[in-house]
Amino acid sequence: MELTLTSSVQYVPRVGPRMAQLLSKLGITTVEDLLYHVPFRYDDFSLIVPISRIQPGETVTISGIIHSIVNLTTKSGKRMQQAIITDDTGKLTVIWFNQPFLTRVLPIGTAVRLAGKIDWFGNKLVMSSPSYEIVLPQPQACPPERQGPALSISLHTGRLVPIYPETEGVTSKWLRNRIAEVLEKVSTQLVDYLPEPIKISYGLMDLAKAVTSVHFPKTIQQAKNARLRLEFDELLMLQTHVHILREQWQQKKVSNPMIVPIKDVEHFIASLPFELTGDQKNSIQEILDNLVSLTPMNRLLVGDVGSGKTVVAAIAICVAFCNGLQSVLMAPTQILAEQHYQTISNLLGPLGINVALVTGEGAKNGESRMKNKEQRSLPLNSPVLIGTHALLSESIRFNKLGLIVIDEQHRFGVEQRAKLSEITTQGKTPHLLTMTATPIPRTVAKILFGNLDLSMLNQMPKGRQVIKTWVVPNDKRSAAYQWISQQIDKTGGQVFIVCPFIEESESLVSVKAVKTEYETLKTIFPHHSIGLLHGRMKLKDKMTALNRFRTQKDAILLSTPVVEVGIDIPNAMIMMIEAADRFGLAQLHQLRGRVGRGSIRSFCLLFTESEDGSTLTRLKSMETIFSGPELAEVDLKLRGPGKLFGTAQHGIPELKIANFSDTELIKQTQTALKSLLSQDKSLSMFPLLRDTALKGIMKTIQQD
Ligand code: ADP
Ligand code: MG
Repeated sequence: MELTLTSSVQYVPRVGPRMAQLLSKLGITTVEDLLYHVPFRYDDFSLIVPISRIQPGETVTISGIIHSIVNLTTKSGKRMQQAIITDDTGKLTVIWFNQPFLTRVLPIGTAVRLAGKIDWFGNKLVMSSPSYEIVLPQPQACPPERQGPALSISLHTGRLVPIYPETEGVTSKWLRNRIAEVLEKVSTQLVDYLPEPIKISYGLMDLAKAVTSVHFPKTIQQAKNARLRLEFDELLMLQTHVHILREQWQQKKVSNPMIVPIKDVEHFIASLPFELTGDQKNSIQEILDNLVSLTPMNRLLVGDVGSGKTVVAAIAICVAFCNGLQSVLMAPTQILAEQHYQTISNLLGPLGINVALVTGEGAKNGESRMKNKEQRSLPLNSPVLIGTHALLSESIRFNKLGLIVIDEQHRFGVEQRAKLSEITTQGKTPHLLTMTATPIPRTVAKILFGNLDLSMLNQMPKGRQVIKTWVVPNDKRSAAYQWISQQIDKTGGQVFIVCPFIEESESLVSVKAVKTEYETLKTIFPHHSIGLLHGRMKLKDKMTALNRFRTQKDAILLSTPVVEVGIDIPNAMIMMIEAADRFGLAQLHQLRGRVGRGSIRSFCLLFTESEDGSTLTRLKSMETIFSGPELAEVDLKLRGPGKLFGTAQHGIPELKIANFSDTELIKQTQTALKSLLSQDKSLSMFPLLRDTALKGIMKTIQQD
């Protein structure tokens, strides 16, 4: 069978199903994925040095013959392999540790290249633990250049050697061999989709050359140029894709244009117990401008935890109601849906708007029960329906749906998003408002969600307090417990204790761990009542635990990070987080946002057992930075590309090669896309580019 870019990686020679399984952990499922698994650095073994000329401290490649090789045991009991290698100019001792098979692989007389560092060992120079490569006789008639760099004589020594992200059972050496082989077979299939003028004006390499040279560059400069081309493509493709989505949304769909009942809206705003922030007012205006349009709204409302997104959504719902249109509000969890139900009923109830909660386990307000299939397909007649994201997957026939609000908090449900664009009632597409607390820098938001209009709530409501934050090392633990206990007694405030068990993967083991912790806490806080909340509990029990906490029956709530998603308990004053180093800063910030929601002075304690300097620095930035997007930037800098939004946390597509912090390249690709669009708004002049852009992002989405 002929290997193509889209072939499953298991058909690559010497891969097979078992290795394919391992490769999938690196996000590699197709041949193309393998080619785009780019090195994160190169070992410079390009210097081939005669043995007589080697210097201590240098990293070099030598080329010679194995003169002797033996297994030894050192004084300290380590197993060591010692070889003597000779070339025309001298001999050198080479050592490895714990690789007894080498005496078989490199028998006396083998021609080898060895690449590694020259060090002193006792009083003589040795090369220790080098990479090795057996040199096969090369027919002179076939110079490597003719077949491209992938076939150059050596992959592992005597050159810039690519080092890849690895996983158990998949080494860089193994990847190098597979990638070289694949390049040889399919690199001609890499069709360059970038228009020539773009390549020229940005000084970009051809695609096939870039993919080849990023793995096997001749020089560091060539590696950089190759990488630049691939980074450029990734950013350009993402934006192109997003542009196409936007076009599609705007072209095909027609909404129910609404009329804004200005008097009613003003009356509603005046009735609120607080004054709206400037950002809230702006966002509301932006939303109203969308609602009156024939093009359905597709807007993302980004606002830190506590920035007041709900009331903004409530106004949109109110306008829809006044136009005789139904609204649906969806939340990621049942608990949050309940909470929204409370808040929205409180806000809209006085205006005579009937709000219904739709749940899997029974419903309030009669008609919206969804106990069995038959009932699920009944049209739901309430003007405002509140439920979880599962509402979408049910075959609900909405009555006259005018507005969908999705509160995703910080989890982007890409699958749901796709379903959303299919919903219509009587041929009309509802307006769509998505809300998120993902701390996302504006530049990044524009790239990832450029298909959406963006409203941002950067101001916090007046009088929001700064939550005093401390990183607590292990030796201060008992003092911290004491302090917490005193605070509870003194102020009557309540405490969250969060352990880092991830909600989706909450296994029985971690449930047991949280139960053990629960018992421990009972002995630490013998005078305070403690509640327990974790993802494996039944909804009923979760609600009971939360209610006990809300009504202050429990002073302390021990929880897994389920509390992260938007629980509003004004009397909570301390957020204590165990093993804080296991969380991203953005996530810690979200957790911290669970306290300081009322008037009571609030604190956040980050416990860690880590003594690693950079980990502590990272955590300590929580003590001084109180803006989500800023913390996200810090994580971007400290943890490097790829870690910004751990997909587990956010579901935001991660860049494979480029970096969201590369603002310069982001600008360049934006300009490039603009110039393409100025030639042809539909991009049909550039069909290859268009197709690749659409295909490329789908892959990213499937992965998260
Ligand atoms: P989030 O953006 O995290 O969803 P909420 O909408 O839950 O935030 O708002 C958090 C709290 O702030 C709520 O109790 C809400 O009533 C209150 N709030 C919203 N806007 C304002 C404002 N402009 N001034 C004061 N409090 C506000
Ligand atoms: Mg909210």
